Amino acid sequence: MTTGTMPSLLDYDEAVERYDPVLGLEVHVELSTVTKMFCGCPTEFGAPPNTQVCPVCLGLPGSLPVVNGKAVESAIRIGLALGCDIVDWCRFARKNYFYPDMPKNYQISQYDEPIAVNGEVEVEVEGRTYTIGIERAHMEEDTGKSTHVGTSGRIHGADYSIVDYNRAGIPLIEIVTKPIEGTGALAPQVARAYVSQLRDLMRALGVSDVRMEQGSLRCDANVSLRPQGETPYGLRTETKNVNSLRSVERALRYEICRQGAILDAGGKVTQETRHWHEDTGITTSGRSKEEAEDYRYFPEPDLVPVAPSPEWVEELRATLPEPPSAHRKRLAEAWGFTEMEFRDVIGAGALHLVEATVEAGTTPAAARKWWLGELARRAKEAEVELEALPITPPQVAAIQALVDAGTVNDKLAREVFDGVLAGEGTPEEVVKARGLAVVSDDSALGAAVDRAIEANPDVAEKIRGGKVAAAGALIGAVMKEMRGQADAGRVRELILERLGAE
Ligand code: ADP
Ligand code: MG
Ligand code: ZN
Repeated sequence: MTTGTMPSLLDYDEAVERYDPVLGLEVHVELSTVTKMFCGCPTEFGAPPNTQVCPVCLGLPGSLPVVNGKAVESAIRIGLALGCDIVDWCRFARKNYFYPDMPKNYQISQYDEPIAVNGEVEVEVEGRTYTIGIERAHMEEDTGKSTHVGTSGRIHGADYSIVDYNRAGIPLIEIVTKPIEGTGALAPQVARAYVSQLRDLMRALGVSDVRMEQGSLRCDANVSLRPQGETPYGLRTETKNVNSLRSVERALRYEICRQGAILDAGGKVTQETRHWHEDTGITTSGRSKEEAEDYRYFPEPDLVPVAPSPEWVEELRATLPEPPSAHRKRLAEAWGFTEMEFRDVIGAGALHLVEATVEAGTTPAAARKWWLGELARRAKEAEVELEALPITPPQVAAIQALVDAGTVNDKLAREVFDGVLAGEGTPEEVVKARGLAVVSDDSALGAAVDRAIEANPDVAEKIRGGKVAAAGALIGAVMKEMRGQADAGRVRELILERLGAE
């Protein structure tokens, strides 16, 4: 851990003016297979600690792993979707190191023989297309999860630590980019767009539930700076386990400012892993990587090599979803948004949310309005990703249906959102429980209209005299009295009727 003074930071604009950032992104995707990578234990999230374990994933002596065919299938489909070559033969390797949440004292991974190599994906940021090279996608197993109990939440200063092995052995695919150059000041945004696109792709493939907040998609973000115009890469840092799209962007911005200050002062960046702190928005020093760690990799002797036949690979290729670019193009045409409107949807990470809301029967414009307006604002306030909000696209569609049916107006709809987000039930239940339906019943409205006329005789006189536009003030008074729950159209009709103006 770092101690002492806070590092100085260079202003971001100055940093990217003087230095050229080079990125490297390592994304871990937890596969949503029914069972673990090398045993038959279930993989469901949130089970009581240490209830989804067996001798294999606990690393007990004499137990033997068996490869999960479904995980290999997912790995191949992911590789193909990333435009990679699928190798015709590869092996698992043991990566040896000690960590209490890794019961075997080695992780079964792939090293110099990954299953998928040499792909590329295109991402778009601010109307420009960036091609991101994929170096490899390989299979491995997840570790267990340590919880350090104490005020720091980290191992340093903890009173004690506990370990849950439910996650140990869950299949992971690690996707590693080639160094990403030429993104300049947009580097953090390109990184975010790439991770966002990977997430969409994994979702479309149906291989992972890609919930970043639950850790089923995690990103390690490498970045180095080199002085403008120079060719050799600078020394990089690797910020570990960045768990939201927003954090990917923030962490990289921070590192660029921090490294910029070091280089400006004539210093040398320490090649190391760093930890991202969501609350304070800074990174702190982790493990030094100045000397490559020696993991003593060797081929896993307990597993046979994986040799997918060309026929199998072609069969799996036929199961690939529409590529993200084609998918976007199709939606852009179908929804009829302007380029700017569509880009905003993508930028907000809301493409699949708007899409699912439209599929549930809402117009594209209304779906976009709720997700990018009301819900984006709430997500920002709560500092969570849009999709982490406890509301589903069908629920948003149901709220819009209530608006369309005249049961609630836009203002009341916002209160329905409050209720659904607070866990009070379905939109219909919230309307009922909170008494939010618009009142269009003439007897209730009529009484309120009469009171408004009585309280505003001068306005009423103007309307009687033919100045129909003045009705707005009376409608407002009725709305206020009825807490916004009056049917505005009917109120207007009643006012004009009573004052003899048509
Ligand atoms: P490690 O074992 O340290 O995690 P990897 O090769 O798995 O290394 O991943 C390193 C990532 O950083 C890759 O995406 C790679 O392309 C990228 N990278 C390598 N060198 C640099 C550099 N100097 N600056 C930025 N990124 C780099
Ligand atoms: Mg790595
Ligand atoms: Zn097991």
